[in-house]
Amino acid sequence: MIHASSSGSDPGHPTLARWLTGPRVAGLPAPLCGGPAPALSFEFFPPRTDALEAQLWACIRRLEPLAPRFVSVTYGAGGSTQARTHATVARILAETVLTPAAHLTCIGASRAEVDAVARGYWEAGVRHIVALRGDPPPGEAYAPHPDGYCYAADLVSGLRAIAPFEISVAAYPETHPQAVSAAADLDNLKRKLDAGATRAITQYFFDTDVYLRFLDRCLAAGISAPIVPGIMPVSNFAQAARFSALCGASVPGWLARLFEGTEADPDIRRMVAVVAAAEQVRLLQANGVDEFHFYTLNRPELTYAIAHILGVRPAAGA
Ligand SMILES: Cc1cc2nc3c(=O)[nH]c(=O)nc-3n(C[C@H](O)[C@H](O)[C@H](O)COP(=O)(O)OP(=O)(O)OC[C@H]3O[C@@H](n4cnc5c(N)ncnc54)[C@H](O)[C@@H]3O)c2cc1C
Repeated sequence: MIHASSSGSDPGHPTLARWLTGPRVAGLPAPLCGGPAPALSFEFFPPRTDALEAQLWACIRRLEPLAPRFVSVTYGAGGSTQARTHATVARILAETVLTPAAHLTCIGASRAEVDAVARGYWEAGVRHIVALRGDPPPGEAYAPHPDGYCYAADLVSGLRAIAPFEISVAAYPETHPQAVSAAADLDNLKRKLDAGATRAITQYFFDTDVYLRFLDRCLAAGISAPIVPGIMPVSNFAQAARFSALCGASVPGWLARLFEGTEADPDIRRMVAVVAAAEQVRLLQANGVDEFHFYTLNRPELTYAIAHILGVRPAAGA
């Protein structure tokens, strides 16, 4: 028998009474057994060195059996990765069963230059473009190229005129940092979809409520296309916090607290990262969301583990 004093209980507030008078929290419903698995897409960035190329391809090979709907490859604003993005997309087409989507930005280039890149993709067999404006170099204000597409909505119209691409665009649950207002940013998203995009992929976010409230606003604005949540499994908290400050994604205090003290322990950090992202996607799944886009950062483990938790398994025979 354990005495109250040895278990640390306060006789005035017995432990069990304290536990039983706290608020009740319902558990997340178990994912449906045998129900359809969510549709996933994975984002990669084009490698700069041979070592990074090997890392990317190990990542692609690890995630390929999960049969994502598509995998996308980012594009350095101003075309800085044009050749590497193209080469990566072409190799995905040639050597995997995956469907690639090429990111394409219009900043710092004329319409003719952007159109030529798009035509090159179509001729190479690429049918899906993620159409973006892109960011100016740090510290510079955005100014459209004099002969260029001003905004992503103009790029979507331009792509539509070139070929019947499937087009995805970016959405910002916390509003794009340079937007005149949240309402103007939502109008912009609607313009991009009305111009011919079929899906939006969101900037990553950490508070599920932020995304769900954004979906309400999209629906109220007359948007019906899927607004696919962008999921960023965080394992390097300090790096993610720096990047979030630049792209306008807020970092909640609870996330900082979760990673506090794990700086010197990568194994623990990874476990914490999977738990945090798994809770986020399970909550979204319980709220009816069944499409997810993962920012993989060219590392497969976290994305693979979270996909597994979502119910996604390697395709039969893969
Ligand atoms: C899923 C995703 C993928 C991304 N991939 C890449 C990538 O591969 N390469 C890269 O460089 N960047 C990428 N980005 C970042 C993106 O380029 C930046 O966020 C960029 O600042 C905005 O791009 P956009 O396509 O959303 O721009 P837009 O939709 O053109 O919007 C940009 C800003 O202009 C405002 N705006 C739009 N139209 C008007 C108008 N007529 N008048 C006044 N203001 C207007 C909008 O409200 C917004 O504030 C990505 C972002 C996301 C969410």
